[in-house]
Amino acid sequence: MQLSNMYQEVILDHYKTPRGKGLQSPFGGEAHHVNPTCGDEITVRVLLSDDGKTIKKISYDSTGCSISQASASIMFEQVDGKSIDEFDKASNEFLAMMQSKGNFEPNEDLLGDGISMIGVAQYPARIKCALLSWMAAKDAIIRANGDK
Ligand code: ZN
Repeated sequence: MQLSNMYQEVILDHYKTPRGKGLQSPFGGEAHHVNPTCGDEITVRVLLSDDGKTIKKISYDSTGCSISQASASIMFEQVDGKSIDEFDKASNEFLAMMQSKGNFEPNEDLLGDGISMIGVAQYPARIKCALLSWMAAKDAIIRANGDK
């Protein structure tokens, strides 16, 4: 896979030093997602505010390839402590970038280091690796809200 060197370094840094890794309690919703084609696995837990509008705490544990692991670390960094509205904006932007085949101007305010993943969008087999953590987080939020 050919990614620009700068972006490759960002991804490797998150892979080697994952932010926020390790499941935490208490939590309101949990989701476990698997990417069978690559073997990536992630469990995401979220704790929402009482009104269900803010992610008070998000945590995860994951195994798999460097793309999936870096993506989980970046996702944590972008959404921990944010509102559901901000989560939706960031996750929609990330999804749009991944579906763009790399022809996209990502919003860095929304994605942070996630913009480093734009090169991955050119590799259909790896897109699921990058999306796994975001999809699991979305599911965990739905489940946390379902408990209300
Ligand atoms: Zn993978």
